[in-house]
Amino acid sequence: MTATKKQFYIETYGCAMNEYDSLLAGKILEQNAAQTSDAAAADVILLNTCAIRENAHQTIYKRLKELGHLHKRGAKIGILGCMAQNLREDLLYENLPIDFIMGPDAIRNLSAIFAEKPESEPNRSFLNLSRTETYDDIVPSFEHHMRERENKTTAFVTIQRGCDNFCAFCVVPYTRGRERSRPVISIVGEVENLVANGVKSVVLLGQNVNSYRHESARFVNLIEALLAKTTIERIYFSSPHPKDFPDELIALMAAEPRFCNQVHLPLQAGGDATLRRMKRNYTRAEFLKIVENVRSRVADVAISTDVIVGFPGESDADFRQTLEVMQLANFDTAFMFAYSERKGTIANRLYPDDIPEAEKKARLAELIEQQLARALKNNQKYIGRTVSAMVEQPSKRNPAEWAARLTNGKKIIFDPRGLDLPIVAGNLVSLTVDGASSQVLKGHPAHATA
Ligand code: SF4
Repeated sequence: MTATKKQFYIETYGCAMNEYDSLLAGKILEQNAAQTSDAAAADVILLNTCAIRENAHQTIYKRLKELGHLHKRGAKIGILGCMAQNLREDLLYENLPIDFIMGPDAIRNLSAIFAEKPESEPNRSFLNLSRTETYDDIVPSFEHHMRERENKTTAFVTIQRGCDNFCAFCVVPYTRGRERSRPVISIVGEVENLVANGVKSVVLLGQNVNSYRHESARFVNLIEALLAKTTIERIYFSSPHPKDFPDELIALMAAEPRFCNQVHLPLQAGGDATLRRMKRNYTRAEFLKIVENVRSRVADVAISTDVIVGFPGESDADFRQTLEVMQLANFDTAFMFAYSERKGTIANRLYPDDIPEAEKKARLAELIEQQLARALKNNQKYIGRTVSAMVEQPSKRNPAEWAARLTNGKKIIFDPRGLDLPIVAGNLVSLTVDGASSQVLKGHPAHATA
């Protein structure tokens, strides 16, 4: 009589790289356990965590309280990811329902957790950071990629791990270690398999994705390999650092429609004094030069960014400079946050968190208001235009409508009635834009038949 396989449950928090790490965990564990989407049915519960801001930690403490009753019933709970690496053994001594902690570079140890004899003294922390680990021999299948995804036309593939930039506010270099990249052949193989299963778009992931380097291959060479060796229709990447934006990358994006005209360019702050204290290694002038370079050469490009307000020592004049650069760069979208001090970062060691919370909130509100107004204006420029968009899935708000995406990543919601072809995720449709908000475009089939 075959023993019933043990069951594991994974819950993922934070960025797309964490989602990919959860795919790796699932792939490693499927050797000797089955994945369940019901925490109550699991022998082992894994929370794959984030440490980017304090509220990420608070979310996990709250979740652990909710899962406490399952732990009492004998389920093992493991904390994976950046929070485990950031708080380390402190987590084990906080009287929380936690059996083990495991950093992003130690996921291979999961199989040991399942092989453990119940009587053996559990090894509770796996926190080695590696200079070489890329998990390139553990390639998630299409089924792994699409397990939790509604939109099955797009997949996220990690190509690079770790970061060497040590921006003063950032915890990532301490939780994900030094930069290392997967071999081109491993990435091309994964993308080929995804294409064979109907995936149309791939988002290449890394903490500092455009510093990709494997042997002699640089990021631009990886893109060229994917363009030459696969038939993936759309290639995107996230998250780059402005300092690694070589001319040949912009030239390739300008020349190759499959290397999509969407660029995420984290600014973080607009004043040179703040950028220096953040250790971002570029000036506002250099940053704006890249924006201008991309905009002048890549047709219909959409540019997004990340911004932090209230970084220690940020004067009102410094903040005004951030508003100014945001205005000059005219971003299509922006991810905007108030500074959240992280344990162990350079800023935590050097600078007191001296901007009052109320002031941070006020600056953030002003920044968001201005950015939303700009985003609306940029989207309104599309009204009356006919665009080509890739169908993704039914609209979450109104199932009678569908969501699709332009190559530059802009989302468009449309009513498929009148389309002269069946509505299928992954198909390209021609739509006339007849409305816009700061977040999405609205449209209808360009050649609507009555
Ligand atoms: S480049 Fe990004 S991930 Fe790396 S330290 Fe800076 S903010 Fe963090």
